Amino acid sequence: MYHDTNIKKEGVFDSPDYFLNNVDKLSSLEAKLLNERVEVSKKYNLPKNLQFCTECVISNQRPRIVFDETGVCGACKFWKKKFSQVDWAFREREFEELCNSFRKSDGSYDVVVPFSGGKDSIYVARELKVKYNMNPLTVTWAPHVYTEVGFRNLLASVHSGLNNVLITPNGHVHRLMTRISTNLMGDPFQPFIYGQTLAPLKIADFYNIPFVVYGENGEVEYGGAREAEKARGFDEEEAKKFLHSGIAIDTFKEFGFSEADLFPYRGPSLENIQKKGIKRYFYSYFHKWLPQDNYYYSVEHTNFKANTKGRSEGTFSKYASLDDRLDPYHYYFALLKFGLGRATSDAAHEIREGLIDRDEGIQLVNKFDMEAPSHATEKIFQDYTGFSKDEMVQCIEKWRNRDLWFKSSDGWKLKNQVI
Ligand SMILES: [Zn+2]
Repeated sequence: MYHDTNIKKEGVFDSPDYFLNNVDKLSSLEAKLLNERVEVSKKYNLPKNLQFCTECVISNQRPRIVFDETGVCGACKFWKKKFSQVDWAFREREFEELCNSFRKSDGSYDVVVPFSGGKDSIYVARELKVKYNMNPLTVTWAPHVYTEVGFRNLLASVHSGLNNVLITPNGHVHRLMTRISTNLMGDPFQPFIYGQTLAPLKIADFYNIPFVVYGENGEVEYGGAREAEKARGFDEEEAKKFLHSGIAIDTFKEFGFSEADLFPYRGPSLENIQKKGIKRYFYSYFHKWLPQDNYYYSVEHTNFKANTKGRSEGTFSKYASLDDRLDPYHYYFALLKFGLGRATSDAAHEIREGLIDRDEGIQLVNKFDMEAPSHATEKIFQDYTGFSKDEMVQCIEKWRNRDLWFKSSDGWKLKNQVI
């Protein structure tokens, strides 16, 4: 007789165990790297004198952010412009014309939307379909370890009426690359980012869909290089820069990865981008981008669900970046390197959106920013990467920026937090 009471209630999402079989130990090259100290401020060219924006809670330690002479960050200035100076009706018409120029009439896909199944990509894909009468193909690069709510939201969005391609890279390769990236760059997410940014372009190439629409331009919305503000998409020159920026994928060859291992991470050839005229645009350039509105939109149209735990680790927010169990480490390494955790970036954009004031933002940062990943997340990260507990500690200390942190009697603390 079948006794379902004997079935353990843990599932692949609650207690993922599908990657426990075959992770390699650290190679001698990785072990050597782990022992190397990094001078973080120098590496990222961070300003010596720490300064917080007088309007939000971000500091000048965010790489590439620009502050003006009155102490206001570039992202805050951009948002003010967004609410006051931009002619949105004009940009809307520009976008409509773009759609008209790419729209196909033979039933094939005419636009690629990089798609996590999160609130922002749902908004972009559905608007393209419903408002602009396009035939979008959404392209998802799988997270490292799906959360239940993240996978559920992806399915809900597909079933609400979207076509989707889900690309999941070889898990064994991806785990090792993630471990090496954490050690080498102080960010577990670089291999994921290759896929997230380049795989949709490769699908655009395969399916001959030259129109690719991303959601937001992070460099502009959250503070980055000044020239980014003008970016509408990219031309050939930008493509060249884009495909070869950051740490080259080829770096991973030094660790023994083959061309076949690295193939999923590579974008299309520059030649094909040019020949097929593949263009990338940001929806946020043409439309007033309000993350909270995107959330309500997704709830209404695709039955999107927020974090079932009430909030995400390391922050107070509940509806952004929900799909990956390893997410807390992406933000935690930014905290170690730049003194800026997840609550800081969430509070900063909520202040700019006008949802909270600066004092509330400061309180939220002081309450949540320093929260380390939970024990459950720590265990998943170690199982996934094959880092031992000691190696993990070593890696964290390798990337902790001593210019920003000091060791007190009850552990490491930031020398300055926003006040
Ligand atoms: Zn600011």
